[in-house]
Amino acid sequence: MARYTGPSCKLCRREGVKLYLKGDRCYSDKCAIVRRPYAPGQHGHNKKKLTNYGLQLREKQKAKRIYGVLESQFRKYYEEAERQKGIAGENLLRLLEMRLDNVVFRLGFAGSRAEARQLVRHGHFTVNGKKVTIPSYQVRVNDVIAVKEGSKNLEKFKSLQEVATTTPKWLTVDKEKMEGQVTALPQREDIDIPVNETLIVELYSK
Ligand code: SF4
Repeated sequence: MARYTGPSCKLCRREGVKLYLKGDRCYSDKCAIVRRPYAPGQHGHNKKKLTNYGLQLREKQKAKRIYGVLESQFRKYYEEAERQKGIAGENLLRLLEMRLDNVVFRLGFAGSRAEARQLVRHGHFTVNGKKVTIPSYQVRVNDVIAVKEGSKNLEKFKSLQEVATTTPKWLTVDKEKMEGQVTALPQREDIDIPVNETLIVELYSK
């Protein structure tokens, strides 16, 4: 699956908010949003008032960039969200949250979603005991996500227990066993991303 490979910090500066795409750096004073809090490019300092369409577009771009999803895949998530019962915007965020790469990140097994995606691709995780290498794999309630037996000795995972992370309430994690479980569907209040999903639905339903 194709993915964006350009500079991550530029995306945050374009959106004007931290999208936390780079792990530890995002929490340090090296963060580009802290150092250069204006949009990239020659006219980055000129603040334009956005039209309604512009606002809707920015929210969509923000969500895509946070989860590292390109347009065609994002639209498929929206179409699926519309088919599901309930509020389309919330369904959309839930589908994005339930991606395996996001869950690996949320469980604290990776410093960013981009790193989680790479670790999944490289076969370091199992779901219910079976190796899964597809970052977009949709996890379900009760699924157990674990670091693969053969990967547990990797330096990256050995230091896991010392890293303090906050686990969302729809997940549980056992750092000693290097595994986590999906215990519920995430609700909107559990998804702490700075996106107004209603504007995304408005954009797509035009
Ligand atoms: Fe965004 Fe992280 Fe870069 Fe800061 S360091 S601009 S939060 S990707």
